Amino acid sequence: MADEVDKADSAIQLALDEMMYRHSARVKEEALFNALGEKVCSDCGIEIPIKRACIEGVTRCIDCQREEERYQRLYYIRSDS
Ligand SMILES: [Zn+2]
Repeated sequence: MADEVDKADSAIQLALDEMMYRHSARVKEEALFNALGEKVCSDCGIEIPIKRACIEGVTRCIDCQREEERYQRLYYIRSDS
C-alpha cells in the first residue's frame, strides 16, 4: 500500500520535473530570441518562427528557404552540364 503511494508520488514528481524542464527550455529560447531581436524573412518579410530564428545564420522563413534551395539545386545542375 505504501509502495503504491510512493510510486504515485514519484510519477507526479517526474511529470513536474519534465514540465519544469520544458518550461525553462522555452524561457531560454525566448531570452535568446529577445537578445537577437525580431527576425523577419529577408525575402518575404514575414516574422520567422522563434525555433527557426534561434538557428544561427537563418535569414529566411522556411518557405523562402525551400524556394532558395530548389533554385540553387536547379542552378547547380545547370552549371554542371
Ligand atoms: Zn519568406
